[in-house]
Amino acid sequence: MKILLVGAGLSGAVIGRHLAEAGHDCRIIDARPHIAGNCHTERDAETGVMLHVYGPHIFHTDDEGVWDYVNRFARFLPYQNRVKTTAQGRVHSLPINLLTINQFFGTTLRPDEARAFIESKADTSITDPQTFEEQALRFVGPELYEAFFKGYTEKQWGCSPTELPASILKRLPVRFNYDDNYFFHRFQGMPQDGYSAMVAAILDHSCITVELNTEYRPEMAAEADHVFWSGPLDGYFDYRLGRLGYRTLDFERFSDKGDYQGCAVMNYGDRDVPYTRITEHKHFSPWESHEGTVCYREYSRAAEPGDTPYYPIRLVEEKALLEQYIDLAHATPGVTFVGRLGTYRYLDMDVTIREALDTATRFVAADGDMSAF
Ligand code: FAD
Ligand code: UDP
Repeated sequence: MKILLVGAGLSGAVIGRHLAEAGHDCRIIDARPHIAGNCHTERDAETGVMLHVYGPHIFHTDDEGVWDYVNRFARFLPYQNRVKTTAQGRVHSLPINLLTINQFFGTTLRPDEARAFIESKADTSITDPQTFEEQALRFVGPELYEAFFKGYTEKQWGCSPTELPASILKRLPVRFNYDDNYFFHRFQGMPQDGYSAMVAAILDHSCITVELNTEYRPEMAAEADHVFWSGPLDGYFDYRLGRLGYRTLDFERFSDKGDYQGCAVMNYGDRDVPYTRITEHKHFSPWESHEGTVCYREYSRAAEPGDTPYYPIRLVEEKALLEQYIDLAHATPGVTFVGRLGTYRYLDMDVTIREALDTATRFVAADGDMSAF
């Protein structure tokens, strides 16, 4: 069959590869001048540092099948994300762990003592936290919430934590030991030559053609037997019901010599610092040595038409609109909506790959008839 895949990010590449291996003819287009979507990495011309162009990407998963898959296409080196945060004039370790608690409160508590201490700070009248703020007050108490989460979250999401769901904070653990690894997952690492090299290897198949700088046009679909759409769900329908809300990011690049901040990611919890974090890219490749260094200050704001969509907002308003777009998508034969933008969900890379593999497997098994899915 002739397959059109819109988007050469992980979703398009993984589905394309699977279908190509099953003998289908895959045309992958992307509006951008490069492959790999938001995971795109490239070497900085000035310093040689590998840049995570659309923000820091750390690979982490519990899915052994996905881990095997990525290791088929790239050499992964061990990498654990250890984030620091600057707040109220001091530097602390994130996610909240025993070192954070002891340094913040000037204590020397052991794990059980710290657990009891934090519980004594918690607002136990909140029995079923619904909002971000309730979740924070229930599980870490007001002091840590004010220092690390309130200001950062207002900057990141452009609204009060009282308007955001508790699920956003649930992504972050609170640990009563000295483990400062940001993620829990069994498999964690960084592709030695960057994510774009990995995606290039996935796309390297004789049944795949890739066209960059190519915006989707409806007549392209007419030439294909099936379309996989990893662009914005509302974009496919020309935003006819309205726009789904996204946060976008602006990166302010600056370069220096040596080591600017001593770690890859430094968050800024204070509301009066306008950026959320500074990323120093050379620390993502600790096996490389560079004299120069490149950092991005990261600012978050509401996406306007034409901006890169980064984080789906998914507040009540968006959820109602999303339902309508999902109904439209179901009523659109011959097109499967995939990935972060196509399904309007926050998806990590491993989940994106898992869903792409499962979608492609179903497509091959059903002989291209996706009407039942
Ligand atoms: P995308 O990468 O967005 O690819 C979609 C592609 O479609 C784009 O290249 C776009 O140009 C193209 N496209 C859209 N519309 C059209 C059109 N009309 N015509 C042609 N082409 C079009 N995940 C992790 O696991 N670990 C992390 O540390 C991590 N950090 C992240 C940090 C940030 C700031 C963000 C925003 C995400 C992060 N992620 C992380 C998630 C990761 O970026 C996604 O899981 C992944 O990029 C999803 O791939 P995708 O192919 O679905 O979407
Ligand atoms: N967060 C915060 N302070 C921090 C880091 C995270 O308040 O220093 C909040 C913020 O609202 C963020 C959420 O916790 O969106 C989840 O954190 P994560 O690191 O998963 O952020 P994301 O991947 O969304 O950037």
